[in-house]
Amino acid sequence: NENILQPEAAIDEGKQEESIRPQRFADYIGQKDLKDVLDIAIKAAKSRGEVLDHLLLYGPPGLGKTTMAMILASEMGVNYKITSAPALERPRDIAGLLVNLKPGDILFVDEIHRLSRMTEEILYPAMEDYRLDITIGKGTSSRIRSVPLSKFTLVGATTRVGALTSPLRDRFGLVQKLRFYEVDELSLIVLRSAQLLQTPVTEDGATEIARRSRGTPRIANRLLKRVRDYAEVKSSGEITGSVAAEALQLFQVDPCGLDWTDRKMLSVIIEQFNGGPVGLETIAAATGEDSQTIEEVYEPYLMQIGYLSRTPRGRVATKAAYKHLDFKPPNEQLS
Ligand code: ADP
Repeated sequence: NENILQPEAAIDEGKQEESIRPQRFADYIGQKDLKDVLDIAIKAAKSRGEVLDHLLLYGPPGLGKTTMAMILASEMGVNYKITSAPALERPRDIAGLLVNLKPGDILFVDEIHRLSRMTEEILYPAMEDYRLDITIGKGTSSRIRSVPLSKFTLVGATTRVGALTSPLRDRFGLVQKLRFYEVDELSLIVLRSAQLLQTPVTEDGATEIARRSRGTPRIANRLLKRVRDYAEVKSSGEITGSVAAEALQLFQVDPCGLDWTDRKMLSVIIEQFNGGPVGLETIAAATGEDSQTIEEVYEPYLMQIGYLSRTPRGRVATKAAYKHLDFKPPNEQLS
């Protein structure tokens, strides 16, 4: 249960996700800015008969980066390959993928901030000139052989755009941020997924699930499946607002989608530090989470819903956070 609000996919979840993953641009809900930019890029590339610019997508997990890469391939009528930086440890891993790409193909590299230095150096000429430079031999007698590659599009995804080296980042023609979804957008995602799963759901039921999904489609879909099970066992099978609320209460999903770590972070700031400011490392130690995860997964959502603010001196809990956790707000220091 404790992982129900994790934005990363669970190990056994990947396959299940495929059945409800949107396949076309029109089914990809929300992210209007991203879609506007990509719509133009697709049309321009198509009309000139060129490949799409390399694209870097960044933002917290579960917001639709992989999905967008797959949709781009289908809109462009090309194939895609999906890989992740930790699988590209050795130069030959990336070389093998690159030489097999057909013109226009999309290569999706997840967690691209984690590329090894050698792999990254192979990518520079590949991205810039569609050329694979291979070093043959060792030491003073070594030489470089260049192999031409098909023109392709690299789509990189990362939760940590700041961790990319600048030479890599500079080789992306398009750099786009994904935002957390609004409740009405998540409701639409839940309604669409429910239809694909052939589960009856009312608008209230969808909204109830959406509100607790931390702005994240992957979590919305996961909660939908859990609530569906509950509705089938405990009632007629229809997901109404009250059925969804009952089920999510049973699963201990907070009405704002906060999980144990979020609540712990906020209560540490409030109880032990009088509301803050508190340094990131202190919060990490108090929750047992690593500071990177706190910074990239937990804090963005808490800031989005207005429970946490970052100041130069540290993190501060807002009045809304006091209220949500049933603490009495302090009088002066907070706005
Ligand atoms: P990321 O790569 O950012 O971690 P994914 O692209 O794997 O996230 O998205 C997770 C799941 O959320 C997908 O299986 C998909 O069904 C759903 N999803 C993501 N974005 C959208 C969207 N804009 N509209 C509908 N469903 C979405």
